[in-house]
Amino acid sequence: SDVPGIELNNGTVIPQLGFGVFQIDPSDTAETVLTAFEAGYRHIDTAQMYGNEAEVGEAIAKSGLGRDELWITTKCNNSNHGYDDSQRALDESLGKLGLDAVDLYLIHWPLPGKDLYVETWKGLEKAHEDGKARTIGVSNFQPHHLDRLLEETETVPAINQIELHPRMQQAGLRSYHERHGIRTEAWSPIGQGRGLLDAPELAEIAQAHGKSAAQVVLRWHIQLGNIIFPKSVTPDRIRENKDIFDFELSHEEMQKIDGMEKAERLGPDPDTFAR
Ligand code: NAD
Repeated sequence: SDVPGIELNNGTVIPQLGFGVFQIDPSDTAETVLTAFEAGYRHIDTAQMYGNEAEVGEAIAKSGLGRDELWITTKCNNSNHGYDDSQRALDESLGKLGLDAVDLYLIHWPLPGKDLYVETWKGLEKAHEDGKARTIGVSNFQPHHLDRLLEETETVPAINQIELHPRMQQAGLRSYHERHGIRTEAWSPIGQGRGLLDAPELAEIAQAHGKSAAQVVLRWHIQLGNIIFPKSVTPDRIRENKDIFDFELSHEEMQKIDGMEKAERLGPDPDTFAR
């Protein structure tokens, strides 16, 4: 495959590009994931919250791909925080996905108002010990949430999956991750498509390479070392979003995109989001 692997702090290697299934209707999910597999994607990012794990499982079963060819991530839903509930929820996810283990299990949101994320993390550590999650990590954690895991538990998360795109570049978290050997996954990598992709800075770079604005932004992530899984239900775009390994952005072009930072969130603030 042309997709590079990124080594994690437990020695496993994750495909740097995957396919995200947030907001894909369950009735479209199996077919869309099969289209992604045909296009060469081998890494799927789903979540209990997305309500389409069973349909991802259906696509896995139909694909004929071997288990060791695939990287499957799911996430512990906000309603399943706690030592026992986080493990029970993973058992349910495994049933829906038709798997004995996921490659990556994440805490979806820290929910500091509940103050259960440390206990939940201990549940993920146990799920890892039991062989049900090959790698464990978190999502939407701020540095002060990560600090508590590092102080109060045994395992440094392998990954923190955070909102990250040219309008929200997360320099602070990225340097925290680097200091502690945590890899960065970027959600909404193309800023959900709207607005961002019309920026003139991107049009100019895109034209220079004969690529689309989406491909330029995805390539920027790859060169930064971020792990990404853009979402689309359109077969041509699914293929387009993977066709990013035959060109390179110059230092100057990378800097131009770095200059687009606005600290502009599309999603909720992890410190106040509690559901
Ligand atoms: P994204 O940045 O991947 O944008 C997807 C949207 O962009 C599509 O719906 C489409 O409208 C448009 N698009 C896709 N390809 C395009 C192309 N080539 N050209 C033009 N427009 C295009 O946004 P996302 O779906 O929010 O994020 C990707 C994945 O990240 C999700 O599917 C999910 O797996 C994950 N995610 C995680 C969290 C979290 O809290 N952990 C939150 C949001 C998303």
